[in-house]
Formats: sequence, C-alpha cells, structure tokens
Amino acid sequence: MNPSFKDLINTIKKSKTKINIADITKAYQFAEKAYHGQKRHSGDPFITHPLHVANTIASWGLDQESIQAALLHDVLEDTPVTHKELAQKFGSKVAFLVNGVTKTGQVKLRNSKDQVFVENLRKMFIAMAKDIRVVLIRLADRYHNMLTLTAVPLEKQKRIALETIEVYAPLAERLGMGKIKGELEDLAFPFVHPKQYKTISQLFKTQIKQTKKHTNQVISQLKKILKKNQLDLQIHGRFKNKYSLYHKLQRSDIDNNINNIHDLVAIRIITKNQLDCYTCLGHVHKTYKPVPYLGVSDFIAQPKPNGYQSIHTKVFDHHGGVVEVQIRSQDMHSQAELGAAAHYAYSQAKKYTKDSIALEKGTAFKSPKKTEWICQLARWQDQVADSKEFKTSLTLDTLSHRIYIFSPKGDVYDLPEGATPVDFAFAVHSDLGLHIQRAKVNQKLVSLSHPLKSGDVVEIEKTKKKRKPNRDWLQFVKSSQAKAKIRKAL
Ligand code: MN
Repeated sequence: MNPSFKDLINTIKKSKTKINIADITKAYQFAEKAYHGQKRHSGDPFITHPLHVANTIASWGLDQESIQAALLHDVLEDTPVTHKELAQKFGSKVAFLVNGVTKTGQVKLRNSKDQVFVENLRKMFIAMAKDIRVVLIRLADRYHNMLTLTAVPLEKQKRIALETIEVYAPLAERLGMGKIKGELEDLAFPFVHPKQYKTISQLFKTQIKQTKKHTNQVISQLKKILKKNQLDLQIHGRFKNKYSLYHKLQRSDIDNNINNIHDLVAIRIITKNQLDCYTCLGHVHKTYKPVPYLGVSDFIAQPKPNGYQSIHTKVFDHHGGVVEVQIRSQDMHSQAELGAAAHYAYSQAKKYTKDSIALEKGTAFKSPKKTEWICQLARWQDQVADSKEFKTSLTLDTLSHRIYIFSPKGDVYDLPEGATPVDFAFAVHSDLGLHIQRAKVNQKLVSLSHPLKSGDVVEIEKTKKKRKPNRDWLQFVKSSQAKAKIRKAL
C-alpha cells in the first residue's frame, strides 16, 4: 500500500527522534510541486515513491534530515531543482544527502558479474555515499522500487533485480540490516531465477503445512509456561526467507533435502532484557529436549561479526520433529532487524533523551562519530572469516582516497583520487598507456589531465603506433604505477 502524508506523520510520531513536523511538511510540499505531473511506471503519481521511501526511513527511526532528504531524493535527477536551491531551502546537510543519493544512483551493474567487479561496485557505492544515511535512503529507495518492479519495462527488470541481489542485499547484510536484506532478496528472487523460485515456493508451501501445526503447538505450550513464570515477553513463529532457503539447500551438508532444514519455521522469543533470555532458555530445555550435537549457539555471549545477538537452540517437539527456538532481548531484536539504522537512530535518540541508560544496555555499538560507520563496516568485514570476496580491507583511508572508474566494457578500475585518463590507461595496460591518442569521459572529449570522478566511463582512443609518453604527464598523474611506467618508457 502507498502510505499517505498523514501515514508518514504517524510513523514519525512513533519514533523517538525529535522531529519538526513543519519542516517535514515543507519538504513534502516542495517535493510534491517539483514532481507534479510526473508518473511512475505503475501509473501512480510520482510523489507516492518518495513518500514510501520517507516512510521507511522514518520507521527506522532516522533523523529529520534523513526524512527530508528521502522526500527530496530524486529531485536533482528528475526535476530542474538545483543543489543550490535545496541548500538554500533545506540547509546544506539535506542538500548533501540528496546529492549523495543521486551520485550512488549512478552505480549500476554493467556487463560483468565477476566477483571482483561486483565487490568494487559495492566499494564504489560506499565511497560515493560518504554518509551512512545516504546508503540507508538508497536501501529504502531500492526496497520500494523492488515492490513495484513488475510495472517496469521487462528488459530493465532483470538488471535491477540482479543489482539488488549482488549489490544492495550484501550491503544491507554488512550493515547488519537482516530484515531489509531478506526482503530485498525475496523480492528479487523471482526475477533473477524464475524457475528455481517456482520450485522453492512449491516446496515451501507443502513443507510449511506440516511444520506449522507442530510449531504452533510448541508456541502455545511455551506461552503458558513462560507466562506462569511471569516472564514479560513476545513469542511468535517466523518463516525462513525463500532466497536464503534456496541457498541453504545448496549447502553440501543439506544435500538439497528440505528435511535437513530445521529452521524453515523458527520460534522467536523476544524478552525485556538479556538475563531473561537465559531464564527462557532454561524453560525451553526443561520442556523440550535439546537435539544432541546440533547444540545451542550462544550469540549473546559471542555475537556474530555484524553485531547479531541471539541464542539459537534446536529442540525435539513432541512429535519427533525438530524446532529451532531463537531467544533475544528487544534491543538485540531491533539490532538484528535494523542494524546500522538502529545504531544511528539510537545515537540520535540518545542526544535527545536524558534517560539514556535503558537504551545503552545491551547495545552492541557505541560512539556514533560521523565516519565511524565506515570503520565499523571495515571491522565487521575483517571478522567475517569466510568472506573470500572481501580480501582488501575496507578502511576509511583506502576508501575515501580512491575513485572507481569504468572502462567502456564495464570493468571497474580502482584509482587514487584525482587520477586522470593517463592513470586509467596505464592501469588498464601499460601498452594502452603508450598508445594514448585522446580520451573521452562519459563520451565527451577531455584533456589528458582531466581529473576523473567515481563512476566515470573512460575511453582511450589509441594511436596506430606506439609512442613515447609526454614528460609533462609526470606533472599530473597520481598513481605510482603510471609514474613508474612513464619514467621507464622515457
Ligand atoms: Mn527513487
């Protein structure tokens, strides 16, 4: 459903962050005027899109600037509104966020699906974002675009869905945003692998019927017991995402057999605090025997690298089946679902709430410095042992001083900031560096000393014969690689 402006205001009122409704209204009215007459592929007025995005951002508890930027996020790209105008009306921060969202929108999956290429694409995205709120707005934007993907022309659908699975979902995962990651994957799944999606959906349907009945029995019994012991908590069943089921089935220990998957439906218990988690675990094991060897995983004592905290235990129901029970506190739950967004919202709320002690308890993150999130991202990555794709560590330093350049074929090259077409040519191949005739950036001729920007497509037109590099090039090239190769050729 398309949220109305009134719905957005209601969502904002539920959030703990201090937000000036008049300022939100101003951004909404400005956006509505700017988009006036434009329609989505679905036929809906364009304003429905930024409203949906803003509503998602507000539901994540983000600040006023983020919600304003979400309402305005497409104006620079799709309307005559300028950056200057945004800055004058809404302040430089909002303009900066909208500009970031516009820039990251240029990151597109081209021909290659190669792991290194895709990884560079993700890095490029982060480098261009510069502020975590830009990434969060982009994720909310992609979420709505995926919800309305069937309205988009057929030839675009697959590319957008593939980008979602290859670039956006992994970013969400790195940010610890489990909920949006799962939703993005499941929305993209039928477009990327239509056949497998059908098979999985069918399998899911038949299997769920059997599992559901037994799980519900366990839920109602646990409810009684936990209530009797005066534990204040919520308990419900959750279904596994289809795309992650598809992946899990391919694991060697699962051997494509759905009977080997025990968390198709899991029981989730959400407690008030951490100590109650262990009390609950005691009651669960007292009532249902834990499955030997599959064991209990205590991700509270030892959180996962992305900050995920929960206790997982597999127990026998009274029908010989196996049920997974996941126990976590309310704070851990919002952290698991919203990750970095919860972290950001938390740091904002803390600013405004005197009584911050309750908020602080059980939270895996601290110190919300501006650039801290990129360092955090890097640390999370360093700790993910099996993340082969992420060999180069993603530190703030390496990132903020790098730009990402495309060849006309769609390969990505990682160059230092301020790099020129000459740097690019030598990065592609030394031979290309020795055949430079002239250079085009985004199909326009430029000088050889032209400083490149992330996302530029650079084409080098070649001379017929090899030629000596120009000594002046040494004045402006930035990469040590290009410098060395030029010196050698002179
Ligand atoms: Mn958009």
